[in-house]
Amino acid sequence: MHQLSTIELLPPEKEYLGVVGFPIKHSLSPVFQNAALREMAKGNPSFESWEYLRIEVKPEELPELLKICRDRGFRGLNLTLPHKVEVLELLDEIDPVAAKMGAVNTVSFQNNKTIGSNTDGYGLSKGIETTLGMSLKDRPILLMGAGGAARAACVQCLEEGCSHLWIGNRSKDRLDALLEDLLASYSPDRMEGFLTGDEIPDVPGDTLLIQSTSLGLKPEDPLPVTEELLAKIEGLYDLVYGKEPTRLVRTARSMGKLAADGLTMLVHQGAKSLSIWTGEEVPVDVMLDAVKLKL
Ligand code: NAP
Repeated sequence: MHQLSTIELLPPEKEYLGVVGFPIKHSLSPVFQNAALREMAKGNPSFESWEYLRIEVKPEELPELLKICRDRGFRGLNLTLPHKVEVLELLDEIDPVAAKMGAVNTVSFQNNKTIGSNTDGYGLSKGIETTLGMSLKDRPILLMGAGGAARAACVQCLEEGCSHLWIGNRSKDRLDALLEDLLASYSPDRMEGFLTGDEIPDVPGDTLLIQSTSLGLKPEDPLPVTEELLAKIEGLYDLVYGKEPTRLVRTARSMGKLAADGLTMLVHQGAKSLSIWTGEEVPVDVMLDAVKLKL
C-alpha cells in the first residue's frame, strides 16, 4: 500500500494507475484491475509495464497527491470514500454527468490536465443489465438511500430514461438535498421522495428496486425495506456486496424475485475507468473472475 511519501519514490519506467481512499486497505480494485492489465498484456505487450496501486491519503493530502501523480505521468486514478466530492474543486475539467452526480470516481491525466468523470452510474446500469437482464430505460424504479452512491444511481436512472423514480431515505435532510439537486436538471414529474417508515409508494409490478443504503454490510443489519414492498417489485439490485449475497437479496430470491448484489457494479465501473485510461476494450470477465476468487 502506498502513501504520499512513497508515490514520489516509484521507479520511473512504469505506467501507473491507482485507487485512492482513506482507508483503502480492503479495496478490491487492485485485484481486478491488475488481472485485466495482465490479460491485456497478452495481446499488447506495452501493458506489461502498467501497474494499478492502492494509495491511502487523507482528504487534506489529496491536492498534493493529484499534483504528484500528474507530474509523475500517472495515467489515471480511481477515487473512493472520502474523496469523491472533495476532488471536484481540484480538477481542470469535469464530465457533465459527473457534475450532475456531484461526485467523481475517475481521474484522467491528459496533456497536463486533470479531468474528472464518474463511472459508477455506468457500472450500475451494466450490472443490472448483466445480472437481471433489465434496462433502466422506461423502467419504474424505487431507490433506497440518499448518500453518495444513491446520487450517482439516481442521475443514471434519469439520464437513461426511467419512467418514474421514487427515492426513499431514513433522514429527511439528505433526501431533501438530493431531490433539490436532481430537480435542477430533471422534471419534477419524473420523481418523488418518501421517508423510510412512511406509507410505501404504490409502485407498478414491473418496478426495479435499487438498494443503495449501507444496510446489509453487517449480517445483523435489518432489511432496508419491508417484505410487503419486496412483494410488489419485479427485481432487486443491491449495491452492497460481499462474500455471500446480502440478506435482502436472499429474501427477495426466496420470494421468487430476480435479485443480484453489487459486485457486478463494482467490476463494471472499474472496467469503464480502465477503458477510459487505455482507450481499449477491457476483459470484464477476467476482472469478475479475479474478484470472485479473491472474495
Ligand atoms: P453514504 O454516502 O454514507 O450513504 C449511506 C446511506 O445509507 C444513506 O442514505 C443513509 O441514510 C443510509 N443508511 C445508513 N445507515 C442506515 C440505517 N441504519 N438505516 C437506514 N438507512 C441507513 O454511503 P454510500 O457511499 O452512498 O454507499 C452506500 C452503500 O453502497 C455502501 O454499502 C457501499 O459499499 C455501497 N456501494 C457499492 C458500490 C458498488 O460498486 N457496488 C459503489 C458505491 C457504493 P441517512 O441519510 O438517513 O443517514
